[in-house]
Amino acid sequence: MAKIFCVANQKGGVGKTTTTVNLAAGLAKVGQRVLMVDLDPQGNATMGSGVDKRQLELSVYDVLLESASVREARVTSDKLIDGACSYDILGANRELAGAEVELVDVERREKRLKQALLEVAPDYDFVLIDCPPSLSMLTLNGLCCAHGVIVPMQCEYFALEGLTDLVNTIKQVHANLNRELAIIGLLRVMFDARITLQQQVSEQLKAHFGSKVFDTVIPRNVRLAEAPSYGVPGVVFDPSSKGAQAFVAFAREMVARIDAL
Ligand code: ADP
Ligand code: MG
Repeated sequence: MAKIFCVANQKGGVGKTTTTVNLAAGLAKVGQRVLMVDLDPQGNATMGSGVDKRQLELSVYDVLLESASVREARVTSDKLIDGACSYDILGANRELAGAEVELVDVERREKRLKQALLEVAPDYDFVLIDCPPSLSMLTLNGLCCAHGVIVPMQCEYFALEGLTDLVNTIKQVHANLNRELAIIGLLRVMFDARITLQQQVSEQLKAHFGSKVFDTVIPRNVRLAEAPSYGVPGVVFDPSSKGAQAFVAFAREMVARIDAL
């Protein structure tokens, strides 16, 4: 049965999408069966996985509105991504922005995705959900079906600001909607060890959050930023790059954490 993880942080540009697609590819590379769900109307995770968001016949929008099942709407990436790193994709495009409004009057609207994923849970070891930069109904749908949240963060002065909002939201969802939900870990991303401030913030994170901070650190690496324009994860684009290697190490760490749960 799949373990489901949201990659969430309500700040934009902190590395959520990069983390989601590269962890998906990294997990596939170490032998895991993965479904990646794009919950952001920007559709960056969809495009970054080689699926053209403008050509999607069915998307996560149709799944949330219950006009399609996940089996019908998912795309298999075998032909898109190097076989060894391939994973399935439940894509998104701007249509998804409308779901927020269309679900307003619907009962149990925050549990739509959870309900829909039940059907495919036996097909996968991991489901990874790329959340939008907000604490909206879409993110809530992600949090309601997840076993854990992965929080990518940059080691900057304001990194901890905003984390309180996310932690409070997660606590509320845990108390009212999903008893299984927990922060599985904080992932330091775009890390530059030459910058003293980043090292200091990194130490503060470890002092505050202890084992909730993942051991793996994702370096700032231009190959990770270049990969999306080729429609592949960095792990596939340049496997020997520091960024790709870090994400494969992170995938291994995730597998070990899950085994230890
Ligand atoms: P989010 O999904 O949180 O908005 P993204 O994953 O889209 O963030 O990342 C924001 C920008 O930073 C993108 O241009 C991405 O390519 C770049 N980026 C993300 N992680 C790295 C990294 N480790 N090294 C270099 N660039 C990165
Ligand atoms: Mg994103």
